[in-house]
Amino acid sequence: MKKWFKEQYFRILRLVRNWCNNQIKSENDRQSRKIIRELDARRKAIVKLQQENCPHLAGYNDLSEVCDYRTSIVWHTDNLGETFGLCTNCQREFREADADYSYWRKKLSFNIPSAANSHKEVYEDPSSVSWVPREVTLYNEPFNEKWGW
Ligand SMILES: [Zn+2]
Repeated sequence: MKKWFKEQYFRILRLVRNWCNNQIKSENDRQSRKIIRELDARRKAIVKLQQENCPHLAGYNDLSEVCDYRTSIVWHTDNLGETFGLCTNCQREFREADADYSYWRKKLSFNIPSAANSHKEVYEDPSSVSWVPREVTLYNEPFNEKWGW
């Protein structure tokens, strides 16, 4: 009988200990989730602030020596035909639904536009491609004749 009581006593102790540990764990989880939510909100606010204050110009970076007059937006046409832009400074996307889309689309970009399947031949025959140096554009060029804006 004494043994049985001892066993029950330790069983209850174990149950209480596990219950307490679970309480602590769930409280820690709650705290962790709260901190993660706060950090995520701050990160999103910083990204939003950066995107709102970004001039979307090539070379607009603390590490760059000069800032270009051309935009830092990469224009890509996907396989559905939609052309969208992505600023390489602030990672803002420029979609057709955006109010300022046409404003930025008309501006000369520092980056060569890309399109889905435009490099198909590279995949079919990689040996056919030779690297061609990028053509030098004049600084006072009124618009890019090659790409049409
Ligand atoms: Zn930007």
